[in-house]
Amino acid sequence: MQITEHVHALMIPFHIPLGAGKKLERFVYAYLVLGTEICLIDSGVKNSEVLIFDYLEKLGRKPGDISLLILTHAHPDHIGSARAIKAAADCTVAAHPEAQDWVEDVELQFKERPVPGFHTLVGGSTSVDRLLQDGEIIGLDTVTLEVILTPGHAKGSIYLFCREDGVMFTGDALPQANGLPIYEDAAAVAASIKRLKSVQGVKHLLASWADPLAGSAAFTMMDQSLEYLQRIHGTIREIASDDGKEDPMELCARMVKILGLPEVAVNPLIAKSFASHFNIIDRENLL
Ligand SMILES: [Zn+2]
Repeated sequence: MQITEHVHALMIPFHIPLGAGKKLERFVYAYLVLGTEICLIDSGVKNSEVLIFDYLEKLGRKPGDISLLILTHAHPDHIGSARAIKAAADCTVAAHPEAQDWVEDVELQFKERPVPGFHTLVGGSTSVDRLLQDGEIIGLDTVTLEVILTPGHAKGSIYLFCREDGVMFTGDALPQANGLPIYEDAAAVAASIKRLKSVQGVKHLLASWADPLAGSAAFTMMDQSLEYLQRIHGTIREIASDDGKEDPMELCARMVKILGLPEVAVNPLIAKSFASHFNIIDRENLL
Protein backbone atom coordinates (compact mmCIF):
# COMPACT_ATOMS: atom_id res chain seq x y z
CA MET A 1 0.00 0.00 0.00
CA GLN A 2 1.44 3.35 -1.02
CA ILE A 3 1.39 5.95 1.78
CA THR A 4 3.32 8.89 0.35
CA GLU A 5 5.41 9.60 -2.72
CA HIS A 6 8.29 7.48 -1.41
CA VAL A 7 6.82 5.30 1.34
CA HIS A 8 4.93 2.02 1.03
CA ALA A 9 3.49 -0.12 3.86
CA LEU A 10 3.35 -3.89 3.84
CA MET A 11 1.29 -5.83 6.37
CA ILE A 12 2.72 -9.21 7.37
CA PRO A 13 0.34 -11.59 9.18
CA PHE A 14 1.79 -14.23 11.51
CA HIS A 15 0.91 -16.23 14.57
CA ILE A 16 2.61 -17.04 17.84
CA PRO A 17 2.22 -20.70 18.85
CA LEU A 18 1.11 -20.90 22.48
CA GLY A 19 1.19 -24.71 22.85
CA ALA A 20 -1.67 -27.21 23.08
CA GLY A 21 -2.79 -26.27 19.56
CA LYS A 22 -3.46 -22.66 20.61
CA LYS A 23 -2.06 -19.73 18.69
CA LEU A 24 -2.18 -15.96 18.88
CA GLU A 25 -2.91 -14.23 15.57
CA ARG A 26 -0.78 -11.11 15.07
CA PHE A 27 0.52 -8.90 12.30
CA VAL A 28 3.45 -6.60 11.86
CA TYR A 29 4.16 -3.91 9.29
CA ALA A 30 7.36 -3.52 7.31
CA TYR A 31 7.92 -0.30 5.36
CA LEU A 32 9.66 0.48 2.10
CA VAL A 33 11.24 3.82 1.26
CA LEU A 34 11.66 3.92 -2.49
CA GLY A 35 14.30 5.59 -4.61
CA THR A 36 16.74 4.30 -7.18
CA GLU A 37 17.75 2.13 -4.26
CA ILE A 38 15.30 0.86 -1.64
CA CYS A 39 15.45 1.17 2.12
CA LEU A 40 13.47 -1.47 4.01
CA ILE A 41 12.39 -0.66 7.56
CA ASP A 42 12.13 -3.90 9.58
CA SER A 43 12.07 -7.36 8.07
CA GLY A 44 8.98 -9.01 9.59
CA VAL A 45 9.01 -12.56 10.94
CA LYS A 46 10.89 -15.52 9.45
CA ASN A 47 9.97 -16.14 5.77
CA SER A 48 8.52 -12.63 5.29
CA GLU A 49 11.01 -12.11 2.46
CA VAL A 50 8.58 -14.03 0.21
CA LEU A 51 5.86 -11.43 0.78
CA ILE A 52 8.29 -8.49 0.59
CA PHE A 53 9.89 -9.68 -2.65
CA ASP A 54 6.44 -10.39 -4.18
CA TYR A 55 5.45 -6.82 -3.39
CA LEU A 56 8.65 -5.49 -4.97
CA GLU A 57 7.98 -7.54 -8.09
CA LYS A 58 4.52 -5.96 -8.41
CA LEU A 59 6.27 -2.57 -8.33
CA GLY A 60 8.63 -3.74 -11.06
CA ARG A 61 11.54 -3.87 -8.61
CA LYS A 62 13.83 -6.69 -7.51
CA PRO A 63 15.28 -7.85 -4.16
CA GLY A 64 18.73 -6.59 -5.18
CA ASP A 65 17.33 -3.02 -5.22
CA ILE A 66 17.21 -3.11 -1.40
CA SER A 67 20.45 -1.46 -0.35
CA LEU A 68 19.64 -0.78 3.30
CA LEU A 69 17.66 -2.68 5.93
CA ILE A 70 17.05 -0.68 9.11
CA LEU A 71 15.88 -2.56 12.20
CA THR A 72 13.85 -0.39 14.60
CA HIS A 73 14.76 -2.85 17.38
CA ALA A 74 15.72 -6.50 17.80
CA HIS A 75 12.41 -8.22 18.63
CA PRO A 76 11.59 -11.38 16.61
CA ASP A 77 8.85 -9.88 14.40
CA HIS A 78 11.24 -7.12 13.27
CA ILE A 79 14.43 -9.11 12.63
CA GLY A 80 12.90 -12.48 11.64
CA SER A 81 13.76 -12.27 7.94
CA ALA A 82 16.83 -10.05 8.20
CA ARG A 83 19.22 -12.90 7.52
CA ALA A 84 17.35 -14.09 4.39
CA ILE A 85 16.92 -10.55 3.05
CA LYS A 86 20.58 -9.74 3.54
CA ALA A 87 21.54 -12.97 1.77
CA ALA A 88 19.24 -12.20 -1.19
CA ALA A 89 19.82 -8.45 -1.50
CA ASP A 90 23.40 -8.13 -0.22
CA CYS A 91 22.20 -5.03 1.65
CA THR A 92 23.63 -3.12 4.58
CA VAL A 93 21.90 -3.94 7.88
CA ALA A 94 21.61 -1.03 10.30
CA ALA A 95 20.49 -0.81 13.94
CA HIS A 96 21.22 1.08 17.14
CA PRO A 97 24.30 -0.22 19.04
CA GLU A 98 22.13 -1.33 21.99
CA ALA A 99 20.09 -3.59 19.69
CA GLN A 100 23.17 -5.08 18.03
CA ASP A 101 23.87 -8.08 20.27
CA TRP A 102 20.34 -9.50 20.01
CA VAL A 103 20.42 -9.19 16.19
CA GLU A 104 23.85 -10.73 15.86
CA ASP A 105 23.20 -13.52 18.37
CA VAL A 106 19.57 -14.56 18.37
CA GLU A 107 20.26 -17.41 20.82
CA LEU A 108 21.45 -14.81 23.31
CA GLN A 109 18.18 -12.94 22.76
CA PHE A 110 16.21 -16.17 23.29
CA LYS A 111 18.13 -16.84 26.50
CA GLU A 112 17.48 -13.34 27.82
CA ARG A 113 13.92 -12.96 26.47
CA PRO A 114 12.39 -16.37 25.74
CA VAL A 115 9.16 -15.40 23.97
CA PRO A 116 6.86 -18.28 22.89
CA GLY A 117 7.53 -19.57 19.38
CA PHE A 118 10.83 -17.65 19.15
CA HIS A 119 12.43 -20.06 16.69
CA THR A 120 9.38 -20.13 14.42
CA LEU A 121 9.57 -16.31 14.23
CA VAL A 122 13.30 -15.73 13.79
CA GLY A 123 15.30 -17.03 10.83
CA GLY A 124 18.75 -16.71 12.40
CA SER A 125 21.41 -14.21 13.40
CA THR A 126 22.62 -11.41 11.14
CA SER A 127 25.61 -9.13 11.44
CA VAL A 128 24.87 -5.42 11.85
CA ASP A 129 26.99 -3.46 9.35
CA ARG A 130 26.05 0.05 10.34
CA LEU A 131 25.42 1.42 13.83
CA LEU A 132 22.92 4.26 14.08
CA GLN A 133 23.16 7.03 16.65
CA ASP A 134 20.47 9.31 18.06
CA GLY A 135 20.12 12.41 15.87
CA GLU A 136 21.91 10.86 12.90
CA ILE A 137 20.50 11.72 9.47
CA ILE A 138 20.54 8.81 7.04
CA GLY A 139 20.76 10.14 3.49
CA LEU A 140 18.92 7.98 0.96
CA ASP A 141 18.97 8.91 -2.72
CA THR A 142 15.50 10.47 -2.59
CA VAL A 143 14.82 11.44 1.04
CA THR A 144 16.45 11.44 4.47
CA LEU A 145 15.65 9.53 7.65
CA GLU A 146 16.42 11.00 11.06
CA VAL A 147 17.21 8.53 13.83
CA ILE A 148 15.44 9.26 17.12
CA LEU A 149 16.43 7.02 20.03
CA THR A 150 13.30 5.97 21.92
CA PRO A 151 14.19 3.62 24.76
CA GLY A 152 11.56 1.92 26.89
CA HIS A 153 10.00 -0.74 24.65
CA ALA A 154 13.27 -2.53 23.95
CA LYS A 155 16.94 -1.71 24.22
CA GLY A 156 18.07 0.30 21.21
CA SER A 157 14.49 1.11 20.03
CA ILE A 158 14.45 3.89 17.44
CA TYR A 159 11.94 6.01 15.58
CA LEU A 160 12.81 7.13 12.06
CA PHE A 161 11.51 10.42 10.70
CA CYS A 162 11.31 11.10 6.98
CA ARG A 163 10.95 14.88 7.00
CA GLU A 164 10.42 15.24 3.24
CA ASP A 165 7.28 13.05 3.31
CA GLY A 166 6.27 13.91 6.91
CA VAL A 167 6.39 10.24 7.90
CA MET A 168 7.26 9.03 11.40
CA PHE A 169 8.08 5.33 11.69
CA THR A 170 7.59 4.38 15.33
CA GLY A 171 8.29 0.62 15.35
CA ASP A 172 6.86 -0.75 18.59
CA ALA A 173 8.08 2.17 20.72
CA LEU A 174 4.65 3.78 20.92
CA PRO A 175 2.44 1.42 22.98
CA GLN A 176 -0.94 0.44 21.56
CA ALA A 177 -3.72 2.06 23.59
CA ASN A 178 -5.73 -0.72 25.26
CA GLY A 179 -3.41 -3.32 23.72
CA LEU A 180 -0.87 -5.67 25.29
CA PRO A 181 1.60 -3.55 27.27
CA ILE A 182 5.10 -4.66 26.23
CA TYR A 183 7.94 -2.53 27.55
CA GLU A 184 10.94 -2.64 29.82
CA ASP A 185 10.73 0.87 31.26
CA ALA A 186 7.40 2.70 31.61
CA ALA A 187 8.98 6.09 32.38
CA ALA A 188 11.25 5.88 29.33
CA VAL A 189 8.29 4.98 27.08
CA ALA A 190 6.35 8.01 28.36
CA ALA A 191 9.38 10.26 27.74
CA SER A 192 9.69 8.84 24.21
CA ILE A 193 6.05 9.67 23.44
CA LYS A 194 6.59 13.20 24.76
CA ARG A 195 9.57 13.53 22.44
CA LEU A 196 7.51 12.22 19.52
CA LYS A 197 4.80 14.81 20.17
CA SER A 198 7.37 17.59 20.00
CA VAL A 199 8.57 16.74 16.48
CA GLN A 200 7.29 19.26 13.94
CA GLY A 201 6.02 18.18 10.53
CA VAL A 202 4.58 14.74 11.32
CA LYS A 203 1.76 13.99 8.87
CA HIS A 204 1.78 10.19 8.94
CA LEU A 205 2.33 7.86 11.87
CA LEU A 206 3.51 4.42 10.81
CA ALA A 207 3.67 1.99 13.73
CA SER A 208 4.53 -1.67 13.34
CA TRP A 209 1.36 -2.86 15.05
CA ALA A 210 -1.31 -0.55 13.59
CA ASP A 211 -2.64 0.42 10.21
CA PRO A 212 -1.08 3.65 8.92
CA LEU A 213 -2.54 6.82 10.45
CA ALA A 214 -2.57 10.31 9.00
CA GLY A 215 -3.30 13.83 10.19
CA SER A 216 -5.11 14.33 13.49
CA ALA A 217 -5.57 10.54 13.92
CA ALA A 218 -1.79 10.28 14.36
CA PHE A 219 -1.80 12.78 17.23
CA THR A 220 -4.89 11.18 18.79
CA MET A 221 -2.97 7.88 18.82
CA MET A 222 -0.02 9.50 20.64
CA ASP A 223 -2.37 10.98 23.26
CA GLN A 224 -4.30 7.73 23.72
CA SER A 225 -1.07 5.80 24.05
CA LEU A 226 0.18 8.15 26.75
CA GLU A 227 -3.19 8.10 28.56
CA TYR A 228 -3.19 4.30 28.55
CA LEU A 229 0.30 4.21 30.03
CA GLN A 230 -0.72 6.72 32.70
CA ARG A 231 -3.89 4.69 33.46
CA ILE A 232 -1.78 1.56 33.97
CA HIS A 233 0.54 3.51 36.24
CA GLY A 234 -2.32 4.95 38.28
CA THR A 235 -3.95 1.53 38.67
CA ILE A 236 -0.72 -0.11 39.81
CA ARG A 237 -0.22 2.68 42.35
CA GLU A 238 -3.74 2.05 43.65
CA ILE A 239 -3.58 -1.72 43.99
CA ALA A 240 0.07 -2.24 44.89
CA SER A 241 0.89 -2.94 48.52
CA ASP A 242 2.91 -0.35 50.41
CA ASP A 243 6.02 -2.46 50.65
CA GLY A 244 6.08 -2.95 46.86
CA LYS A 245 6.88 -6.64 47.28
CA GLU A 246 4.27 -7.89 44.85
CA ASP A 247 4.56 -11.22 43.11
CA PRO A 248 4.94 -10.04 39.47
CA MET A 249 2.69 -12.76 38.02
CA GLU A 250 -0.02 -12.14 40.61
CA LEU A 251 0.06 -8.43 39.88
CA CYS A 252 -0.04 -9.22 36.15
CA ALA A 253 -3.14 -11.41 36.55
CA ARG A 254 -4.93 -8.66 38.51
CA MET A 255 -3.97 -5.97 36.00
CA VAL A 256 -5.03 -8.08 33.02
CA LYS A 257 -8.46 -8.48 34.62
CA ILE A 258 -8.81 -4.78 35.48
CA LEU A 259 -7.68 -3.64 32.01
CA GLY A 260 -9.92 -6.22 30.29
CA LEU A 261 -7.00 -7.79 28.40
CA PRO A 262 -7.16 -11.36 27.05
CA GLU A 263 -6.14 -14.21 29.36
CA VAL A 264 -2.99 -14.89 27.27
CA ALA A 265 -1.65 -11.58 28.59
CA VAL A 266 -0.96 -13.24 31.94
CA ASN A 267 2.63 -14.13 31.10
CA PRO A 268 6.15 -13.20 32.25
CA LEU A 269 6.67 -10.73 29.38
CA ILE A 270 3.64 -8.58 30.29
CA ALA A 271 4.39 -9.05 34.00
CA LYS A 272 7.76 -7.40 33.35
CA SER A 273 6.05 -4.38 31.77
CA PHE A 274 3.82 -3.88 34.82
CA ALA A 275 6.75 -4.47 37.20
CA SER A 276 8.71 -1.64 35.53
CA HIS A 277 6.22 0.82 37.07
CA PHE A 278 7.67 0.05 40.52
CA ASN A 279 10.85 1.92 39.58
CA ILE A 280 8.78 5.11 39.63
CA ILE A 281 5.95 4.10 41.95
CA ASP A 282 6.42 7.24 44.08
CA ARG A 283 5.67 9.40 41.09
CA GLU A 284 2.00 10.18 40.48
CA ASN A 285 2.48 11.23 36.87
CA LEU A 286 4.74 9.46 34.41
CA LEU A 287 5.75 12.78 32.87
ZN1 LIG B 1 8.96 -5.01 19.85
